[in-house]
Amino acid sequence: MKNEKLLERFLKYVSFDTQSDPESETYPSTPGQKVLLKYLADEMHSMGIAEVKMDTFGYVTGTIPATPGREGESVVGFLAHVDTSPDAPGANVRPQIVETDGDIVITTDGTTLLGADDKAGIAEIMTAAEYLLACPEIEHGKIRIAFTPDEEIGRGVDFFDVKAFGADFAYTMDGGPQGELEYENFNAAVAKITITGRSAHPGDAKDKMMNAVRVAMELDSRLPAAERPETTEGYEGFYHLTHMGGSIERAEMEYFIRDHDGTRFEQRKKTVEAVVANINAKYGEGTASVSIKDQYYNMRKVVERHPEVVERAKRAMTAAGVEPIVKPIRGGTDGARLSYMGLPCPNLFAGGMNFHSLRESVSVSTMKKAMNTIIEIARVKE
Ligand SMILES: [Zn+2]
Repeated sequence: MKNEKLLERFLKYVSFDTQSDPESETYPSTPGQKVLLKYLADEMHSMGIAEVKMDTFGYVTGTIPATPGREGESVVGFLAHVDTSPDAPGANVRPQIVETDGDIVITTDGTTLLGADDKAGIAEIMTAAEYLLACPEIEHGKIRIAFTPDEEIGRGVDFFDVKAFGADFAYTMDGGPQGELEYENFNAAVAKITITGRSAHPGDAKDKMMNAVRVAMELDSRLPAAERPETTEGYEGFYHLTHMGGSIERAEMEYFIRDHDGTRFEQRKKTVEAVVANINAKYGEGTASVSIKDQYYNMRKVVERHPEVVERAKRAMTAAGVEPIVKPIRGGTDGARLSYMGLPCPNLFAGGMNFHSLRESVSVSTMKKAMNTIIEIARVKE
């Protein structure tokens, strides 16, 4: 059922260049995203989805009304993002279709991203919507759909109107392999450190020069070497040196601080402050300064107050013949921010593999499982 439609839609959506751009100051960050968003709004409209709207920021939303008798149940939302990662080229995608063991796998020609992240999610939501509209005998509550820009650059829900969306809870269809069910992510902060050095003629520098870059290296060496992205996994947090640069007179460093546990997260921020204080104690007050800004928080804290949201996804997956695989996200999601904006929002598999790389791929059978999971989530009777 509907395999052709899923594939056809997916291939259509990846033909749009929707790469987002972290350097841009517009919203969405690139004009191509609005082109796909407009296309989706038109497609939703012609499919018979109700209340289709594209707002000034580009967010596209629509409604599948409840079937008779189920109007009083929770309103369930589904979201996917239209942008693709800036990490690899995203224009002129030439999908390669490989048939294997009765399945169809789509990859790239090796020169671009595929964009399964997250166009697989869009194709699944759209095809599930089409199916529910075509089969009124399948009963469900009210469903809200949203497509958003700029997820990959962390701005996906900056202007999203949770109240107008009006869902009680939602799911982002933005995970990887089959069965993924995620409702824990990092707490995240960024620390920016500035070091002021003192230059002197190198031939005459004894007891005068203070090389800011060397102080920066020393500062980094005081953070635990075992707590870096390349040495941690699972629930282990880290300090990630994302940038270091400078000269004798001035150096700058940037760290991403990450931890699933709220208490340990706060401790990590204190550790960075303590290391900076330590440097100042050694080299003089004002040598190093730090500003730490929180970026996002672990959605678990919000989602665990609504256990039925996770239970519903598990039940639906089982009904769709998918074994749920619960694991913590070592990053953030739009759903994490939405959860703190009042919309509990776990992340479900969309089926893509090797995200953000030239080896990205997705199989039609997994996309179909994700689509069936959406349908089963809608059907769950309260
Ligand atoms: Zn994504």
